[in-house]
Amino acid sequence: MAFSLEEDYEALTQFLYIAPIGLVQAHTDGEIVMVNPLCAQLLMPLSRDGGLSNLFTALEGVAPDLRHMAAAFEGSHGMVCDALHLQVNAGRGHKDAQILSLSLLKLDDRRLMAVLSDVTKSVKRDRELRQSLAWINTIVTGLTDYALVALDANGCAQSWNPSIGRVAGFAGEATVGHSYAMFYPLDGMSGDRALDRLHEADDSGWSLDEGWRVRADGTRYWGSCLIAPLHVPGDDPSDERQTERAYSLIIRDISDRRDATEALRQSVSSDHLTGLANRRAFFDAANLELQRWTRMSRPLSVVMIDADHFKGINDEHGHSGGDAVLRHLAAGMSFSFHAMDVVSRVGGEEFAVLMPGITLEAAEAAALRLCRSIEAQAVEINGTFIRYTISAGVATMQEGIDGVDELLQRADSAMYLAKSKGRNRVERWVGKTDADGDRNLAKHIHG
Ligand code: GH3
Ligand code: MG
Ligand code: MG
Repeated sequence: MAFSLEEDYEALTQFLYIAPIGLVQAHTDGEIVMVNPLCAQLLMPLSRDGGLSNLFTALEGVAPDLRHMAAAFEGSHGMVCDALHLQVNAGRGHKDAQILSLSLLKLDDRRLMAVLSDVTKSVKRDRELRQSLAWINTIVTGLTDYALVALDANGCAQSWNPSIGRVAGFAGEATVGHSYAMFYPLDGMSGDRALDRLHEADDSGWSLDEGWRVRADGTRYWGSCLIAPLHVPGDDPSDERQTERAYSLIIRDISDRRDATEALRQSVSSDHLTGLANRRAFFDAANLELQRWTRMSRPLSVVMIDADHFKGINDEHGHSGGDAVLRHLAAGMSFSFHAMDVVSRVGGEEFAVLMPGITLEAAEAAALRLCRSIEAQAVEINGTFIRYTISAGVATMQEGIDGVDELLQRADSAMYLAKSKGRNRVERWVGKTDADGDRNLAKHIHG
């Protein structure tokens, strides 16, 4: 029996209503005629005025060209765009960046149909797959030597392949029962962080990092460590079977590759004057640590440091004299902080240190040590010795802080508090202060 037109329409509306993808029908000028609930849910947060009357307006923030693309489409009907990926909340430090896939179909001269779906998860999976393929590729093609170590649920070595001696210089038996942190420099891997990486491997299937490693005799080499779970990932950690968790660790000595890739990496991620990480590398690292913070809820603190009366140093000793002071400060910083901390030059004479796993109190203590040590030293500039001081502000990651920018802003405002209290000191972020609102005023009064 054929459906009547009305029943037909009813069935179609029903279908649209429950369809697992977002559907919109619109006029060619974007005016929305019909939108199903899922689509409204996806579009609503994007719409700047809170309304949903025009498709192009709603998508303006993420797909500014869409109106133009639709207008420029020449055929009487067809695909205007196919599975276009739209980045929502793509800003720095956003934990919940979302990716929407949009297809726009021109039905005829008057009507458009759009299909919208949230593909965040599948894009992430796809990226992970591509990363693992890249990794496998490098193993297969670039492999000269590697050591394989089996780890238990706590990251302690259980067994090994004989090349552990060649790659890491350890006698296999000597490693048994010890955390894999033993392959890292003394301050390069804390116990907490070692566990974090196991959890990361649980979550995403693997965890890879590159950096300095140490051999049993204390000599260093540039290596990569890949950790992959041997159990089926995703088990509940409170589960009894927790004891059955096990991982494999692959250590490679990639010193050869380091020279080539490191030069490139250095050139994009390090600061020319001081050799510290640059602003971009700082934000990359900070975004990653923030993700870890969200998952593990371990402390994460940041210190902002600014040289005091630096204009005066420049005026008196020239720009090159100022530069020498900046290099001196940078050297002092790499000395005062741990290898796990990300020490970087984020501005002219402003430095930021990201301290994973470190509480506000400990960060403050570290900053104070630096402050005292800088104060106590004299720097030689063209034969004369000068002294200078620094001011620092510390802040720690908390629920409600929206991304790296905001965390850094807190440390920055604490630093300005230190300036306004007389410089050569360290302050914590204590909420909004006068110094925060008006740096110029603080400078005017005290500078
Ligand atoms: P305050 O104690 O309030 O920080 O005073 P200040 O004089 O240090 O003031 P401010 O931090 O605003 O001054 C920054 C100065 O640093 C301004 C700029 O001339 C200088 N500067 C910025 N980048 C460089 C650099 O790469 N080399 C040198 N030599 N000077 C720089
Ligand atoms: Mg400054
Ligand atoms: Mg300054």
